[in-house]
Amino acid sequence: MADESVDLGRRGFLRGRRRAEPAPLRPPWSRTKQFTDLCTRCGACADACPESIIRRGDGGFPEIDFRRGECSFCAACAESCPEPVFDRAARPWTLIARIAPSCLAMNRVVCRSCRDACPEAAIRFALAPGGVAVPTVEDGACTGCGACVAACPADAVTLQPGPETAHAP
Ligand code: SF4
Ligand code: SF4
Ligand code: SF4
Repeated sequence: MADESVDLGRRGFLRGRRRAEPAPLRPPWSRTKQFTDLCTRCGACADACPESIIRRGDGGFPEIDFRRGECSFCAACAESCPEPVFDRAARPWTLIARIAPSCLAMNRVVCRSCRDACPEAAIRFALAPGGVAVPTVEDGACTGCGACVAACPADAVTLQPGPETAHAP
């Protein structure tokens, strides 16, 4: 019974996400506001990424896909680009992990996969009233590497733009 309610909640969440597609995540250090003006869609950044997390997205423009893996901040994408798309003087990005209500732990199913995957120990668990510990993200510790995304069995983790003061890798 409990499993069914978790599943229904997850399906509802996924349907909702399809209706309101989030803005695409661009590679680190890229000038996101001018991205589609500056990028020629040559694919050099995707070819250069050793983690294979850059894919061709809408219109052929590169997008980060954390379901494929995490960003190591190696900067190979920025260094491979022949256009003025990247600004290495800036911080790579302000992305921060966010956890949706479809999280298994929030639905009283024990899970700590995101915490185990996080290289920055940025995900903490605290006991909730139902008796199962639930995750919270320490914004000041999260680099936005995305390692927690593929680790989550409920597709509950997304990376969202955070404040400019967010932690830099
Ligand atoms: S910094 Fe490295 S791992 Fe991250 S997207 Fe660029 S090439 Fe890939
Ligand atoms: S994005 Fe990276 S640093 Fe942030 S919580 Fe996820 S795994 Fe940890
Ligand atoms: S891995 Fe996903 S389902 Fe598991 S505790 Fe973390 S956010 Fe929740």
